[in-house]
Amino acid sequence: MEYKNATGRIYDIQGYAVHDGPGIRTTVFTKGCPLSCLWCHSPESQGFGFELGWLPLKCLGMDLCVEACRKACTRGAISRGEPTKRMGTEEMVEKAELDRTKCDGCLKCTEVCFTKALYSAGWDTTVDEVYDRLMKDVPFFENGGGVTVSGGEAMSQFEFTLNLLKRLKDSGIHICLDTTGFAPAEKFLEILPYVDLFLYDVKHMDSRRHKALTGVPNELILDNARLLAKNGAKIQVRYPVIPKLNDSRENMEATADFCVSLGEALTLVQLLPYHKSGRSKYDRLGRPYRLTNVEPPPESFMEKALELFTARGLPAQIH
Ligand code: SF4
Ligand code: SF4
Repeated sequence: MEYKNATGRIYDIQGYAVHDGPGIRTTVFTKGCPLSCLWCHSPESQGFGFELGWLPLKCLGMDLCVEACRKACTRGAISRGEPTKRMGTEEMVEKAELDRTKCDGCLKCTEVCFTKALYSAGWDTTVDEVYDRLMKDVPFFENGGGVTVSGGEAMSQFEFTLNLLKRLKDSGIHICLDTTGFAPAEKFLEILPYVDLFLYDVKHMDSRRHKALTGVPNELILDNARLLAKNGAKIQVRYPVIPKLNDSRENMEATADFCVSLGEALTLVQLLPYHKSGRSKYDRLGRPYRLTNVEPPPESFMEKALELFTARGLPAQIH
C-alpha cells in the first residue's frame, strides 16, 4: 500500500498499554487537541506547540550542570537555588530554580540538561520513525493486542496519522484510534478502512454543556459517530464520569440512549471514573489544575451508573 512518510508531532509512545483497547498495545500519543476538557489528565497533549516541562526531583544541582542550564537561558529564568541536602545523603547541592514568568519557551535549556529535569513536552518525528519503533513491540501484540493512536487528537494531524495507519495496516497490525470525534466527517470516512476499532469519547449529550466543559459543541462529534456506525466502523464508546459536571441521571440516560442508537457498531461502553492522577503533570508545565474541588466518584455510584447502561442491553464496564 502506498503511503507518505509524513511528519508528525508526538509527546509519548507507551508500550505495554492495557487500557487503550484490547490486549497488550503500544500507544502513540500525538500532540495537540481542539478540545480543552476541564478534567484532562494529559495537559501536555493539549497544545500543538512544544512546551517546557520541569521536574525538580530529577535536577542534580551539580556545579557544572546548574551553570550550564543557567547560562543556556538568556532570559534569566534559571537561577541557582539555596543549598539543600541531596535526598538521602549529606551532600549539599544547589538545584536549579525556574521562574516561568521570565521564560519564553525557547527550550535552549533542555539541550544541556542531560537528566531531562528540563525537557521538551513533544517532539517532531516521521511515519517511518514511529513505525520502526512500534514494530519492535510486535511480539507483545499476540492474543489480540496492537497499536493505538491517541492524543491529543490524532485526527488533527491527519496526514501523519493516516499514513502511519496505512503502514501499520499493511503489516497486519490491529489498530485502535482513540478520538474525540471532533474532526471533519470526510476525514473520518477516509481513515475508516485502516481502523479496526474506534475508541470514541462521548462527554456530554447537551451541546451547550459540552461546550462549557470542553470548549467545543458536540453536534459534529455525535454526527461523526453515527456516520462511522452507518459505514461499518466498530466503536467502543468512552464516557468519562466527572462528578457534578456530566454525571446527572438525565445525561447518563441520554448517553446510554445514544449508545443504543449506534446499533451493532457499538462493541463496548467504558465508564471511566474521574481520577486525579494527572494533577502533577500540570505542575510540571507550570499550569493551574482547574478541577481542584472534584473528587473521584464512589464505587457505589459507578455501579449504579453501570446498571443504567446494562439495563438497556448494552455491553458496558467500569474501566
Ligand atoms: S536542570 Fe538539569 S542541567 Fe540544570 S542543574 Fe538541574 S540537572 Fe543540571
Ligand atoms: S525555555 Fe528558554 S527561556 Fe525558558 S527557562 Fe529554558 S532557556 Fe530559559
